[in-house]
Amino acid sequence: MPELPEVETVKRTVEPKITGQIITDIDVRNDAVLENVSSDFFIQFIQGNYVVSMSRRGKYLIFHMNQGGDIVLHLRMTGQLITFENEPALDKHCHLVIYFEQGGFYYRDVRRFGRFWIVKDGKYSGTGMERLGPEPFDKAFCGSYLLEAFSRHHCPVKSELLDQHIVAGIGNIYADEILFDAGINPFRSCHTLTLKECESICSSASAVLKRAIEKRGTTFRDYRDGDGEKGTFQELLKIFHKQGEPCPRCGTLIKKSVCNGRGTFYCPKCQPKDSSKRVIGLTGGIASGKSFISGYLQSLGAEIIDADEIAREIMVPHGKVLEKLNKTFGGGFLNDDGSLNRKKLRDYVFADKDRVKTMNQITHPVIRRIALSRIQKSTKDLVVLDAPLLIEAKFHFFCDEIWVVYVDEKKQRSRLKKRDNINEKLADEIIASQCSFEYKKKYADIIIDNSGTRANTKKQIRLALAQVKIKNDN
Ligand SMILES: [Zn+2]
Repeated sequence: MPELPEVETVKRTVEPKITGQIITDIDVRNDAVLENVSSDFFIQFIQGNYVVSMSRRGKYLIFHMNQGGDIVLHLRMTGQLITFENEPALDKHCHLVIYFEQGGFYYRDVRRFGRFWIVKDGKYSGTGMERLGPEPFDKAFCGSYLLEAFSRHHCPVKSELLDQHIVAGIGNIYADEILFDAGINPFRSCHTLTLKECESICSSASAVLKRAIEKRGTTFRDYRDGDGEKGTFQELLKIFHKQGEPCPRCGTLIKKSVCNGRGTFYCPKCQPKDSSKRVIGLTGGIASGKSFISGYLQSLGAEIIDADEIAREIMVPHGKVLEKLNKTFGGGFLNDDGSLNRKKLRDYVFADKDRVKTMNQITHPVIRRIALSRIQKSTKDLVVLDAPLLIEAKFHFFCDEIWVVYVDEKKQRSRLKKRDNINEKLADEIIASQCSFEYKKKYADIIIDNSGTRANTKKQIRLALAQVKIKNDN
């Protein structure tokens, strides 16, 4: 996907060839690329007119027209804007051709996600451009700005850099390169970053993107500039798609992992997580025998932070969480002494998926805050966050690695019925309200099969502890 350096390069190669050229003919071959106008209107708007100048904002290109108003273009995944002097060679992926008296330019897009808008009032509403964060080269994009923006979120720093509302123009390739340059682990929870670290992200962003513009962008697959030429920054990439190769700074093998579904590349040595503390997120659904596993980890020296225990702690009589839950669900869930009638609430909530969701929206942020502060305060080298809803509640962002406990479903159901003294129907509803093992497995660095003997489970735990900290899914 073209990111800031590529879009800037397209602008720089296209602009000198099209400004001041009277548009004589327009061939809209596929009007799906026109977002807020009909092809008739588009043609009427530009025919006989010309582009005065071009500019770029984030990943958007803007054509400023002589008659007033702009054309806005977002290239999305595979959009290309190519100029020509003589009769162009057009294929089925060319959706729009604009002709001058001599030459012109066309829009080609294999995946067809790119879009054109006509904007007459300079406000750009509806294009997405109106909500963009600062440009990486802006003065406004500084350490204190990032610190403030990051403090509101608990997600990995990489996903924040990809958020165009925080900073405009950065995509998957440059986010990895910038974080490598800054020496920051892409999975660090962004609110843990210091001012100094935020400052180094800003200066790395500016340095990396500037260099990429000088090299006319990165061509990984589809990207071409306005002359149909490839960029050359791919030759200078240090970390992106280099998994298994030695880090150019320290020689450690580069890792690949997945952050919000995007391939993410980093050096585990140059981009370490918060500290020497190893945080394991332990999950596996209710009654999967996690407590045996966390108990064993505790006997090996780990500090255990139990999310269920926190969930019980926050339900103090007359406390905020309890009052809010009781009020939200229409009251009647408290005992005479103000404590929670656990059974009543559970029977009511688990009968309806929306109620479960509502309850989680109230309780998860509070549990998350307490869990995080306990992890940070722990003086142990090994901390285990034991949470049945680790992934659903997004607690896994705090963890260096995720352990998922597997147990076959029959065993799970019978354990739950026995443990909580409930019937089969309720047990099934509770199990169904959680994500499936198959879903959790996708996040797992380690899977512990707890269907066998205790000795077997212990052996798996010892092996997992000896393994490399961070998932390497090369
Ligand atoms: Zn390194």
